[in-house]
Amino acid sequence: MAGHLYIVAGCSGVGKGTLLKLFMERNPELKLSISATTRNPRQGEEDGVSYFFITKEEFKTAIENNEFLEWAEFSGNFYGTKKSFVEKTLAKGIDLILEIEVQGAKQIKEKMPEATSIFVMPPSLEDLEARLRGRHTESEEAIQKRLGAAAREIEAGKSFDYRIINDNIEEALANMQKIFDGEGKC
Ligand code: 5GP
Repeated sequence: MAGHLYIVAGCSGVGKGTLLKLFMERNPELKLSISATTRNPRQGEEDGVSYFFITKEEFKTAIENNEFLEWAEFSGNFYGTKKSFVEKTLAKGIDLILEIEVQGAKQIKEKMPEATSIFVMPPSLEDLEARLRGRHTESEEAIQKRLGAAAREIEAGKSFDYRIINDNIEEALANMQKIFDGEGKC
């Protein structure tokens, strides 16, 4: 049987990376997709682990060659999911999670309506701002851009199959587990 596709989106800084990391540890049979991006690696990020870090030229060529299942521009950088990676993983019967932003999530849902979409919400925009600042990884300009995007993303999150508020991490993990168990896939 083919694997099931899950899409997890949420505003930048909402803590979805941490949430997913813990969720994957508890559900090791799941696989997390590795995207391609044109943004610079952050400290500690490894090529081929966090992302495939590629140039704008390489990204453009991949678009022209129709290699992406979805792609989007976010905060001045490009991000995309390779079609071949998703198809091969699902064909092996492995359940796959895509951690992507909302425009990409929308593209996938249109192409693959059977995919399950989950939106991770911050408890409030103030909380999100505090988290983004506390991370010390972005410039003030990047923080402002990401906060602007967050308000639009929360609006877009209303059309997702499920929404989880990431206030208490254990509660968020339990809610996520319920969704996956309910979909009968893990
Ligand atoms: P970051 O720069 O913080 O790693 O990611 C910025 C945003 O891009 C996040 O919302 C993340 O989920 C999203 N993202 C990561 N990979 C992809 C992808 O392959 N496609 C799309 N559409 N968004 C992605």
